[in-house]
Amino acid sequence: MTDVKPPQGRGAVSTSGSAAGRDQPPRTRTRHTTDTKLPVAASQDVRQAMIRLLRADAKAFTATLTLNALAAAAGLAGPYLVGRIVDDVRAGKGVSAVDHLALAILLCSLAQLLLARWARYTGHRFGERTLARVREQFVDRTLALPAAAVERAGTGDLTARGTADVALVGTTLRDVGPDLLVNGVQALFLLGAVFALNPLLGACGLLGLAGIWCALRWYLARARAGYLAEGAATSDVAEILAATASGARTVEALRLEKRRVSASRDALETSRRTRLHTLFLRTVFFPSVEICYLVPVAAVLLVGGLLHDRGTLSLGAVVTAALYLQRLSGPLDEILMRVEQLQNSGASFARVEGLARAPRTETSDTAAPAGDRIDVRGVRYAYDRGGEVLRGVDLTVRPGERLAVVGPSGAGKTTLSRLLAGVDAPTEGTVTVGGVPVVELGPEQLRRQVVLVTQEHHVFLGTVRDNLRIAEPAASDEELWAALTAVGADEWVRELPDGLDTRLGDGGRRTDGSQAQQLALARVVLADPHTLILDEATALLDPTTARHTERALAAVLEGRTVIAIAHRLHTAHDADRVAVMEDGLLTELGTHEELVTADGAYAALWRTWHG
Ligand code: ADP
Repeated sequence: MTDVKPPQGRGAVSTSGSAAGRDQPPRTRTRHTTDTKLPVAASQDVRQAMIRLLRADAKAFTATLTLNALAAAAGLAGPYLVGRIVDDVRAGKGVSAVDHLALAILLCSLAQLLLARWARYTGHRFGERTLARVREQFVDRTLALPAAAVERAGTGDLTARGTADVALVGTTLRDVGPDLLVNGVQALFLLGAVFALNPLLGACGLLGLAGIWCALRWYLARARAGYLAEGAATSDVAEILAATASGARTVEALRLEKRRVSASRDALETSRRTRLHTLFLRTVFFPSVEICYLVPVAAVLLVGGLLHDRGTLSLGAVVTAALYLQRLSGPLDEILMRVEQLQNSGASFARVEGLARAPRTETSDTAAPAGDRIDVRGVRYAYDRGGEVLRGVDLTVRPGERLAVVGPSGAGKTTLSRLLAGVDAPTEGTVTVGGVPVVELGPEQLRRQVVLVTQEHHVFLGTVRDNLRIAEPAASDEELWAALTAVGADEWVRELPDGLDTRLGDGGRRTDGSQAQQLALARVVLADPHTLILDEATALLDPTTARHTERALAAVLEGRTVIAIAHRLHTAHDADRVAVMEDGLLTELGTHEELVTADGAYAALWRTWHG
């Protein structure tokens, strides 16, 4: 029935020690974002992020570049030596001269092969390390996202960014990036060599490049928007499918099947259209480029032939230049193939980097709450869509008391509990604990103060120890066992084959509902907050497992302030004080007896409930 719901993932532990915090934008409050989607980084930001990644591993990058240059230089020797052979044969030199040159060609080719492989190896290593950095950053940034921002954007978008987009960026860093480097350096060297042979022939080479340049500009002008639209459409499909699957029961109960199917169809249709558009771009671009390859070779042969006729250029030089330009198509082809992938992954990288521009939780780790008192002052709150849900709430929760919040459905009780737990910030007014606004507390501080207990009991992939230490990373084994004992979970954990080291979740040991709940409650014990916020609608009404965990819950509540969103009035009856909420306002506050005597809204509810 329960779980420590780390308010906006703050209670969770960052899995990496990367320096993700370095280039973060100023922390902003989450409330005032009007755009519900997670942001996408602008081109300039993407470039800067790329440069930062290159700088982070500058040594490996420089080594890759140098090795590539050496390989490309070795590659130039072949055509040059073929040209020399042509000239030597024309000059009537003997077979031995040709043999020597042929042997030199062989050696140069071998050197190029080895250097290129080495370059590729260092390039791949660089790519893998950089990808690890991108992944770590993504995890850190995701954990720093306020829950409200994720709720607004939908988990589908975040999932698509974390899977498909990161994978695409990974391919680029591992394969496309190193390949681009190899081929880019080769192309530069080849063209430079033609210019060195004869500037006029070099100009012929440029002619073809100019055509490719135009085709490329046409393509690039359309590709970014095209691929971004394709990515967004893919996210939408994922989002709609995820929402339909997770809400399947509701869909069935409310007979929304047709609507969901038609929404999925629409999303798929948009996805199909965006994909067709990018396909069109590719089918125009690549054939145009093929034609541009042929032009410079033909031009070099024509112009070179004329120059040779006039005696200004040896036949060997013309052959060398033609071979260079003919070879140019290889690396250029690779580059262009990769440019398409680069565009694609550029759009993905913009979406991955976009998280850095997402609002982060405003926290100030320096402020330490003075005392355990929770004060709600003049709190107003409105969701992004819709009017005010809380319309000026004042409330003081005394340390150690049990406060039940009751009221009709839609009165704003759950919303108030979210503000009390620091999940969201009030639009106006303050919610403070010991004088410090809850939303400004860092995750470490927050979970010592207030924890929201809901029914979302999640077992994380990892050992029992990992699952518990989410709440308290520094907890010793004794503390873990004490927490397990407090919630009555020590027996079954002791019976596990590896005790605390037993792996749980997919592929590991399966836990049943009540075990998952006990683990979640053990996390609450470890976090040891002075205040628990209990949403009973989700925390207590799970009849199959409630009996098992009621004792555990009682142990967890012991000695703490408890604010219970009470949906059953007997809870209110047992509470120290009862707060009645109606239409976003706190209308009554007092003990059960006082409120019944006052004969107001609570007394009416109580009479109805009591029959
Ligand atoms: P209660 O817990 O008392 O039933 P809630 O706090 O859940 O009340 O809801 C108060 C009002 O806020 C309701 O009118 C509800 O429709 C609205 N509301 C709740 N959650 C959201 C949301 N995520 N976005 C927009 N409106 C919401």
